[in-house]
Amino acid sequence: MHIAGIKNLFKKQVHSGSILNKLTEVIPDTKVCKGLTELDKKLFAEYLQMPRYKMQITPKEIDNLCKFDGNEFILEAYELLTRKLGLDVNIRPKLFWSTDMNNNIEAAFQPLNNIILCNAEYFPNLSKKQQFILLRHELQHYIQNMDILRHEEIGEKALDRLTTNYIKALKQTHDLIFKQYPIKKAVENLKNRGEDINFINKYVELFKAKDSKGIDELFESTGSGYRQELTGFRNKIIAERGLIKKDSALTPKIQQNFDEFANTGYYNPDGNLNYAKYFNSKIEQDAILAQKAADFQFSKECCYMKYAKNNFSMRLIQRKPLKHLNKSILLNPAGIPRTKPFCPDPPDKFQALLCLLMTNLQQKCHLPH
Ligand SMILES: [Zn+2]
Repeated sequence: MHIAGIKNLFKKQVHSGSILNKLTEVIPDTKVCKGLTELDKKLFAEYLQMPRYKMQITPKEIDNLCKFDGNEFILEAYELLTRKLGLDVNIRPKLFWSTDMNNNIEAAFQPLNNIILCNAEYFPNLSKKQQFILLRHELQHYIQNMDILRHEEIGEKALDRLTTNYIKALKQTHDLIFKQYPIKKAVENLKNRGEDINFINKYVELFKAKDSKGIDELFESTGSGYRQELTGFRNKIIAERGLIKKDSALTPKIQQNFDEFANTGYYNPDGNLNYAKYFNSKIEQDAILAQKAADFQFSKECCYMKYAKNNFSMRLIQRKPLKHLNKSILLNPAGIPRTKPFCPDPPDKFQALLCLLMTNLQQKCHLPH
């Protein structure tokens, strides 16, 4: 994005009725609503959503957590996050390292087997803050999936769809591995993925006999076993968190999440993230906000606006691409990312921009939190 574009974010005065009304509700007699810039507006809109993701983590808890290092930190962070989110050990997803993840992904939630995968190559090298907030992000996807499963009507449909997807994924994996490797090596590969040896043996037998009907039946029967397990898991979630009735006010949102989970294709054929698709999906927007709330708590800052603006200026100083701000600021109204990536400008212009930003930061705002 060009420097002029960013400058306009601060110069342009925005009079947004709905945000102003909401802010006045939160802070009566406020003066901060006067003369909002585009950036203020975006950040206030986020601020208003933050209570939904609040985890009541104290600065002392963050300090204690940061005493841990390496894998211990990751596990302790996971304990703290799941405890604060009220996720019982019986239903929370298990954490796994993955050695064959797409290079662009640091972590991912897999609804098919209810696990969170961390990229073994990249995740350990991230900062503690990054690890903390990414775990929170993936846990939000888990919460979305959990709400789908505990819904009276959509939960039933989810059992069917997850089973179908499970069979499909299993078939694809076997087709690919047995095409790629000789039988002995393929068997070894599946064993390393933790697949049941009895299942592998049966598959190999049918594969050698070229019995495709038998193979289909084998997958179908494994699918029904999977469905049974998933039903058990669903019952546990309902017992733990309660059933969401079909006439609940949450139903439209859960239905939307369910449809999005079924169509998650955020990647271009070249393996790069399709930002437009990614930021337009409600499940991602929700997970990103949860991630931001965790980032805010991790920063131990009191005022959200101060935190958010600091964050923004740090990104400018470090000249990092404004990846996560793309959604709110760098997208044009149609939600299509601008084709030009954020490019650093000569230092003098850059300094001018920072001064502008700092003036903006000095605006007094004391928000309740
Ligand atoms: Zn996500």
